[in-house]
Amino acid sequence: MVEMSCEDHDRYAASSQFITHTVGRILKESMLESTPINTKGYESLLGLVENTAMDSFDLYYGLFMFNKNSLEMLEKLDLAFEDLRKQLIAWLHRVVRNQLIENGERLHQLDGSNSHALHRRAPNESALLHSSFNDVALLNSFASNNSSQSDENTKLKIAIVGFGNFGQFLAKTIVSQGHEVLAYSRSDYSDVARKLGVLYFSDVDDLCEQHPGVILLCTSIISTVKVLKSLPFQRLKRSTLFVDVLSIKEFPRNLFLQHLPHDFDVLCTHPMFGPESGKNGWKNLPFVYDKVRIGNEESRILRCYRFLDIFASEGCRMVEMSCAEHDRHAAGSQFVTHTTGRFLEKLRLKTTPINTKGYETLLSLVKNTGRDSFDLYYSLFLYNLNAMEQLERFDLAFESLKKQLFNRLHSIYRKQLFENEQ
Ligand code: NAP
Repeated sequence: MVEMSCEDHDRYAASSQFITHTVGRILKESMLESTPINTKGYESLLGLVENTAMDSFDLYYGLFMFNKNSLEMLEKLDLAFEDLRKQLIAWLHRVVRNQLIENGERLHQLDGSNSHALHRRAPNESALLHSSFNDVALLNSFASNNSSQSDENTKLKIAIVGFGNFGQFLAKTIVSQGHEVLAYSRSDYSDVARKLGVLYFSDVDDLCEQHPGVILLCTSIISTVKVLKSLPFQRLKRSTLFVDVLSIKEFPRNLFLQHLPHDFDVLCTHPMFGPESGKNGWKNLPFVYDKVRIGNEESRILRCYRFLDIFASEGCRMVEMSCAEHDRHAAGSQFVTHTTGRFLEKLRLKTTPINTKGYETLLSLVKNTGRDSFDLYYSLFLYNLNAMEQLERFDLAFESLKKQLFNRLHSIYRKQLFENEQ
């Protein structure tokens, strides 16, 4: 029971109710669809659409018309979305301009003979991919045969490259399972690493000299090429397993196949949760993986299984799926979730004494996505073929909602004018 003045109610409700309904309606018009690998954030958006779509447009129009604070809220939403769009386009513009200026000469050379060379390389890559694909049943049988092995045989030596937000988050659980974890990053994280029980290296050569069985790449999507090219592969064992956790999958898969020595194993993964959504454990959270290239030797297959078991044993919902399929399902839903969180973040929404459930969903979405770096969001935009179209769809949905509201306003006023005249 909340006793408050009608005025206070309307002020709070303009954000908690009106914003929630507006976002729900925009998302409904954007035609979101459920995927086999929904994140928690995306599921909450789907729930919001379902809840608000049940209400009539009359109800929504009433919230807009009879609350004097609603128009200001609508304007703020409009500005926030515009601001986010501008931010994305400005980044894009800067990156493309830099590339054009810096690589101007190389771009000229790319047409003609060089482009033929690029085309010629493709068939070898795909042959390599198909020749070394693995069988899930085989993996499972190895798992059960080896469940009784001693700790020494089952523990992995994992080197995390990129020890930022997500690298540290994963390290906590990996260490708690008794695996040996080493780390390297561009910045100095030696203190954090010590607290987590991770051996930190400020020199990547020294890290590789430790001969970790697994290299776990946790760097930002944008820096992947640069980081990968800077790794001294010659210092690693020939059978090293390379794993990535990038939020998009075809891009790292192709990069690994192109740049890594042929003897290395490749496992592409996407833990579809983060420090916020996974802070109370990983049970039932989706973990997508694609065994892109795992050698046939028993030890290699086992190592891959052991790595996957880090997530399976925490209760993750393990989903084996090709990188291409992952990108089809996830890129869209992730981008929409992050876009909604980011544009709402600009409104600095506050909790009110009369939060609705839907509004609480929005608040936690803002909290979840706001903790991720802009690099991550920008990459979801840049590396997703459909992102621009989705952004447009979101924009059109918002425009169409505003049109519906304003048309009704206009028609009511016109009707009043005519009636008065008569
Ligand atoms: P991020 O901003 O995507 O990546 C930060 C990491 O990238 C840091 O380790 C940072 O190193 C490194 N980095 C950035 N620019 C670099 C450069 N120019 N050269 C070398 N290293 C560079 O944030 P994140 O949340 O930690 O994500 C890391 C990876 O995990 C991303 O690929 C992301 O897609 C994936 N992922 C994240 C989540 C999540 O919830 N956050 C969930 C699933 C997957 P320094 O800190 O040393 O500068």
